[in-house]
Amino acid sequence: MSIRLRLTLWYMGVMAVTLLSASFLLYVFLQHNLEQDMDQSLAAKASDVAANISPSDLPFIFELRNFNAFASADTYLQAIDTQGSVYRTRNLGDTTLPLSKETSAAAQRLQPSHETVFLEGQKLRLYTTPLLFRGTAIGYLQVARLMTAEDALVRLQQLLLVGSAVGVVLAGFVGWLLARASLRPIDAIRQAAHAIGQSRGLEGRVPYRGPTDEVGRLAATFNEMLEHLEEAFVAQRRFVADASHELRTPLTSMRINVDILRKQADGRSTDEAETLDDIASELERLSRLVSGLLDLARADAGQHLERRSADLRSIVGEACDQALVLARGVTLRVVESGPMEILGSPDHLKQLLLILLDNALKYTPQGGTITVGLTAADGWVQLRVADTGIGIAPEDLPHVFERFYRANSARRKPGTGLGLAIAQWIATEHGGRITVESIPGGGSIFTVWLPTTGRVSTVVHA
Ligand code: ADP
Repeated sequence: MSIRLRLTLWYMGVMAVTLLSASFLLYVFLQHNLEQDMDQSLAAKASDVAANISPSDLPFIFELRNFNAFASADTYLQAIDTQGSVYRTRNLGDTTLPLSKETSAAAQRLQPSHETVFLEGQKLRLYTTPLLFRGTAIGYLQVARLMTAEDALVRLQQLLLVGSAVGVVLAGFVGWLLARASLRPIDAIRQAAHAIGQSRGLEGRVPYRGPTDEVGRLAATFNEMLEHLEEAFVAQRRFVADASHELRTPLTSMRINVDILRKQADGRSTDEAETLDDIASELERLSRLVSGLLDLARADAGQHLERRSADLRSIVGEACDQALVLARGVTLRVVESGPMEILGSPDHLKQLLLILLDNALKYTPQGGTITVGLTAADGWVQLRVADTGIGIAPEDLPHVFERFYRANSARRKPGTGLGLAIAQWIATEHGGRITVESIPGGGSIFTVWLPTTGRVSTVVHA
């Protein structure tokens, strides 16, 4: 559940509880007040009637003068004497006001009482009080009034319920808008962070313009963190580049010296000669590793290739001639094409091709074939290096362009695991890409896609 929805639901919940409790309290307060008012007015009316009783009325106490005058359209009176004779005002007709046991018991204790009764479908408030004459109970007097305010209360109850429901819905809507407005900057930060993650660079920053509230501080902290990471990253890259650069010269001089020693074979045992060969091959590997690291460090530092108009056919020719020297027992076929100009760095394109050819030669056993093809279509040049070598297992295929990744099947061959990472960087620097298809034991096809400059003339012949 999103924070926005959760906030809105909380907002609605709090609003519902507040409105319902306020409505409930208002209703109870009004009902209590109305009841109290009515009870007071009934008691007042009863004492008016009682005051009308004069001593001369005795012993016919209930021949009250003007008894009917105390009644009105919604007020009814009834008196009961000690003999049980009932006297009613005319508006009661034949209806008798009820006298419950509890009420008559209270009246006998000389205590007046209030109660709500239903009479012929009407709700009435009934006041029963003992009638006293010179401290002696001479009967009861009952005053009843229709509770007409009850209808108004029911209407009020309905109004409060509907009002609360509308209030809750309205609060939900406003809450949703508010939550959206306050979370929008966080969403912007998330999008910016996602974009930074996608670009795989740490140069991006969250573009926040607003108050330095919680969200503002989050954006600032995030940017600060990116700044520190970028600094550390740049320092690390610089270190790798510097270290690789510094290692190159001593490595070259060591290689030259070992080569000189290997040429002076006089008086050296076979073991010594083999040790020197091992050192030479390890130095060769180390030099490749260092130069690969330097290339990638420069790539990471944002180095861009200088591009100019270059003929890919002649680059392919040069690289194949160079690779042919190492092709022992493997046939290298080139599917020639006409001049194919692209905008690129000839040195790097040759390096890319040499990486692919070197791999193809390394992983293709004797008797195999390597085919290099160059074609163009739809604004793209396709450079394919296909071999009939050991192939790549499906689980290794997605990883071969990662730095230092080497499939288990390739571990017996010399290599650094950096070649394809550099090849991929060169292809992307040219606005292109590199793909691979492979069948384990059936060979691999590496295809480099490069955008053409628009002036391509291809004459393909085997
Ligand atoms: P390496 O120096 O190990 O060749 P690369 O980056 O050039 O490093 O290649 C990475 C891995 O991809 C290799 O270790 C190997 O497992 C696999 N690979 C690359 N090219 C081929 C190929 N032509 N045939 C089979 N496997 C290959």
